[in-house]
Amino acid sequence: MEEGLLADVQGVSLPSLLPENEDLAHVLDVLCATGYGAWVVGGAVRDCILGELPEEYDICTTATPEQVIESFEDTIPTGIKYGTITVKSGDSMFEVTTLRTETGYGDGRRPDEVKWGSSLRIDLSRRDFTMNAMAYDYARGLLHDPFGGKSDLENGFLKAVGDPSQRLSEDGLRIMRAYRFMDRQKRGIWLPDSELSSALIDNRAMLTMVSIERVWSELVRIINGANASIVLSRMNDDGVLPAIIGFPLPEETFAKLAKLPADLEARMTILFSGLKDDDVTVILERLKVPKAVFSRVKFLHFLTKNSPKQTDLRLYRNTLSKEVKTHSILVETLGGNTDLINKSLQYPTGIECLVNGDWIMERTGLEPGIKLGRLKDWLFRIQIERGYTDLSQMETALCTIPWASGDPKEWPRPSWP
Ligand code: ATP
Ligand code: MG
Repeated sequence: MEEGLLADVQGVSLPSLLPENEDLAHVLDVLCATGYGAWVVGGAVRDCILGELPEEYDICTTATPEQVIESFEDTIPTGIKYGTITVKSGDSMFEVTTLRTETGYGDGRRPDEVKWGSSLRIDLSRRDFTMNAMAYDYARGLLHDPFGGKSDLENGFLKAVGDPSQRLSEDGLRIMRAYRFMDRQKRGIWLPDSELSSALIDNRAMLTMVSIERVWSELVRIINGANASIVLSRMNDDGVLPAIIGFPLPEETFAKLAKLPADLEARMTILFSGLKDDDVTVILERLKVPKAVFSRVKFLHFLTKNSPKQTDLRLYRNTLSKEVKTHSILVETLGGNTDLINKSLQYPTGIECLVNGDWIMERTGLEPGIKLGRLKDWLFRIQIERGYTDLSQMETALCTIPWASGDPKEWPRPSWP
């Protein structure tokens, strides 16, 4: 391996911290062979210290974005304005970012101006938390950890780099990141130190400066976290959750979350279970959640207030399909009765309609149109409700339907409720 430019910050020898990775080594080697400095930085170093396999490797370098593009065959100028180039090596992609020195955060979101730099020390000092402010010199096996991130990691402390209040006021998203990093999944909870704790509360208004899309993408990870109940409860107490969703939530909500699997919409449904339907809509609109999340949370919220009757079970089961299990978990979590919900599981789902338009037209003389479509729906409903499996049963059903009269728009449909 080529040794590139030496960092301007002390390193301690920690050989083989990163797992062997040919594609990564190639990128670092090319940059270092040209005399640039190149380091693995941020999340990957943190994960390796914890003994976890990183999902991605971010690299920082003294090479300018143009020099990075010139050094490799296959690059994408992902965030060239902020110095980030994606480099393809083997089957992997690496984000290679030029070291920077930045000035000012006028809007609390993005630096006013980005300047390329050559100081690893400065680059690390503008990162958010000590555990994320470490870099690794792969060729020399050196860990650069000027803020004591490794020891904070090992002792389970979440600490800001520098003055917490100032760092949170530069970029409000760091508030969300702080809560996200409190949840260390199977390792439990990493508590912020007292300065960071108060800074989170004092700076919560900064969240309004951050685009809701960025807030939402962090919130999703928090809600799905293994210790979401503890982290969200703290966000609620700190006034951060109310600042995001516009409502404080009742304290007893959070313990219930711990009983749910990592199902985003189911967890959101429990979080909002004490709220009125309209308020849930207001929150979802405010968060600009994706359409699929919106409709599933609304539907699950409806389910928490509506259960099937004994006479509905087949229709309910066929309509809800695998969501019956979700419904059962939600009702159980909220302390309701799940007998009928669970009983419905004995009935089939994914049922296909036994008859088609031609079959109905032959027997009724109807032409294609709304009436034919709605009659098919009605027959299908009867088929599901009665568990019919052959056409002779459908013939009998057709005889009992007064399809010649009435408004087809009012006819029963094959769905629940
Ligand atoms: P993950 O494992 O979720 O990817 P990560 O720490 O790698 O976590 P990224 O969003 O990939 O998170 O960011 C990479 C690195 O960039 C972080 O480790 C941190 O050093 C720095 N960083 C990211 N966002 C910010 C921010 N808002 N303020 C300061 N530094 C940040
Ligand atoms: Mg990352």
